[in-house]
Amino acid sequence: MPRESGLYCFRCDRQTLHKQTGGVNHVLHFLVAFFTCGLWLIVWMIIAQRAAAADFVCTFCGTTYEHDRATSVWRQRHGAAAESGHTAP
Ligand SMILES: [Zn+2]
Repeated sequence: MPRESGLYCFRCDRQTLHKQTGGVNHVLHFLVAFFTCGLWLIVWMIIAQRAAAADFVCTFCGTTYEHDRATSVWRQRHGAAAESGHTAP
């Protein structure tokens, strides 16, 4: 099942719904592991690890979420003051 998360999209310039690519069918993997007497568990673990590191893609524009880029663009557009929490006197 694909995971969803609200992340800042630098192209949309707002927080949008991001969907994670490369979902894992855990039911299918469980059945295969059952019929291979647990041997498939090793393959399942590798696939699940890779899926956990899969990219989040913006559902509006299709841009792949990059944390470093998103945070740097957000700082440029919204300023360092908003990040530090200080307000002008
Ligand atoms: Zn977007």
